[in-house]
Amino acid sequence: MKPAVFDYVRPATLDEATRLLGEKGVFSKVVAGSQSLGPMLNLRLAQPELLVDITSIPVLTAVSEQRDYVDIGACVSHADVEDGRIPDGSRGLLALVASRIAYRAVRNRGTLGGSLAHADPAADWISVFPLLGADVIVQSRRGTRTVAAENIMVSSFITVLQPDELIRTIRVPKISARARWGFCKFNQKAGEFAHAIGGVLHDPENDRFRAVIGAIETAPIVVADAASLFGGRFGPNLDARLDKRAVLALLDEKNVRDEYNRQLLLVALKRAAKQASES
Ligand SMILES: Cc1cc2nc3c(=O)[nH]c(=O)nc-3n(C[C@H](O)[C@H](O)[C@H](O)COP(=O)(O)OP(=O)(O)OC[C@H]3O[C@@H](n4cnc5c(N)ncnc54)[C@H](O)[C@@H]3O)c2cc1C
Repeated sequence: MKPAVFDYVRPATLDEATRLLGEKGVFSKVVAGSQSLGPMLNLRLAQPELLVDITSIPVLTAVSEQRDYVDIGACVSHADVEDGRIPDGSRGLLALVASRIAYRAVRNRGTLGGSLAHADPAADWISVFPLLGADVIVQSRRGTRTVAAENIMVSSFITVLQPDELIRTIRVPKISARARWGFCKFNQKAGEFAHAIGGVLHDPENDRFRAVIGAIETAPIVVADAASLFGGRFGPNLDARLDKRAVLALLDEKNVRDEYNRQLLLVALKRAAKQASES
């Protein structure tokens, strides 16, 4: 199929982009890498009147490293992260995740901000940024606001973003040299969307012990104090200490009922825990 007719603009500044998005009476949509929006336009699942292409706005591809965090512009691509073109405050986690998203052509164009805004539960960044405790800086004509990455997604393909807002920056806290992480993505073929995601991060210097269970058809489960899932502490044999009942109770709360999925998610978290404790 072909998309319905739309207008297309490619502003050079954030002010111009947010002005266009804020125009009353026009159904406009941001486009970045177009890896998800493109197919939706073609299938006419989305029929905006105006596409605002944000990929020429310098601040959206900018990256700046501070003492405690790295600010990554929303239009930085998965390939930029995979290739190490941005400072790595995650000790390899971001690059690993990026390298397993889709295939290279998609990674060249797909962006971090686009992935978060699209809010596909089976996507990677929507689980990984919450694991790292990242913040998302959102911009509109009204100014900026900061949303914890774990609060961006409301449910499948629905976010807290207003129609006139765009994601400007993802602020990713750096982890310390003593930090350990594990990440497990189950998918049928390399590069496909996830069927289950498990993630564990322990950073004693920053007093962080977090876990994530993702690809659950809604926003991921983020456990900010993961000690409770692992007998109260991080350490050797973390996977053996995983409290399965506690995990299954979390899945119950999110209405994950399918027994196969529940086991897959459990194993994903277990493998992430093993990787974290053995790394
Ligand atoms: C074959 C294929 C396989 C894939 N496999 C995976 C996978 O394994 N894992 C994975 O995580 N992803 C996967 N993806 C998704 C891909 O990685 C992109 O991240 C994703 O398509 C969105 O990024 P984009 O820049 O292309 O966004 P676009 O398609 O341009 O936009 C997507 C949505 O986000 C909005 N948007 C874009 N940027 C912003 C912004 N800065 N602020 C506010 N709203 C914005 C758009 O309006 C639109 O609603 C796959 C895609 C394809 C085509």
